[in-house]
Amino acid sequence: MVRIRIGKNHFAKLYEEVRGMCPLCGKVLIDDSGNRLNSRAEAAHIYPHSPTNEEIKLLKDAPRLSQDPENLDNLILLCSNDHKMFDHPRTVDGYMKLYNLKKQLLDNAAGKEYYEKHSIESDLFIILEKLGSHIISDASIKLSYDAIKVMDKMKDTESVLIKNTISQHVNDYYLVIKDFLKELEKDHGGVSDLIAAEIKTCYLDLKKNCFTQESIYYHLVEWLNAKTANAYIYATPIIIAYYIQNCEVFTNDMPQQSR
Ligand SMILES: [Zn+2]
Repeated sequence: MVRIRIGKNHFAKLYEEVRGMCPLCGKVLIDDSGNRLNSRAEAAHIYPHSPTNEEIKLLKDAPRLSQDPENLDNLILLCSNDHKMFDHPRTVDGYMKLYNLKKQLLDNAAGKEYYEKHSIESDLFIILEKLGSHIISDASIKLSYDAIKVMDKMKDTESVLIKNTISQHVNDYYLVIKDFLKELEKDHGGVSDLIAAEIKTCYLDLKKNCFTQESIYYHLVEWLNAKTANAYIYATPIIIAYYIQNCEVFTNDMPQQSR
């Protein structure tokens, strides 16, 4: 196991990427339970830094995140235990697990660049606030199954869990949000078109850059969270689900099969 020293900015980037937790076991990487901070974080090379002949043979067909083993794309923070287990013994399964994990983390990080570029109408706060005090009653009118377009607009390859979650939000809140927006229009004419356009522009920007539907959904939610100081993390996925149903998001993603 090669121990490397990395600069503090590089460390900060890798630390943020895993949100301060070992991505394999969930342990916090910097423990502050005592009087001082203790770090159990180690930067692991996904593809080994100085591979043995055996390792070269083992990983000869495996994809790589960078040809340069020292590149940040080939490094991931792990707790010291998992680092040891990952390196000894090296296995193709272990390598592919970490490779895919890091790929997802890179995808998550890449989308963040778009958050700054896209602003959001401050009136959206009113809707988020209102959602926080709205109680769904059994008597509320449910959208008919036919009206829920989410399943049609998402590709077959996307996770069923995400489709179900979005459909559920649409079912519970679509008409509620429509009413809130109508209300908002009375005071600020044109505001709902403006919000819809902002969400659509951010969606198109992400789509243009080849993110999957799943990560587009993730980034739209995270973008709203970033714009609202994480004050409405339970409401923001509901807002994005509304705009999927309303056709601003996943507009041109046609279903692959004819029905
Ligand atoms: Zn760990």
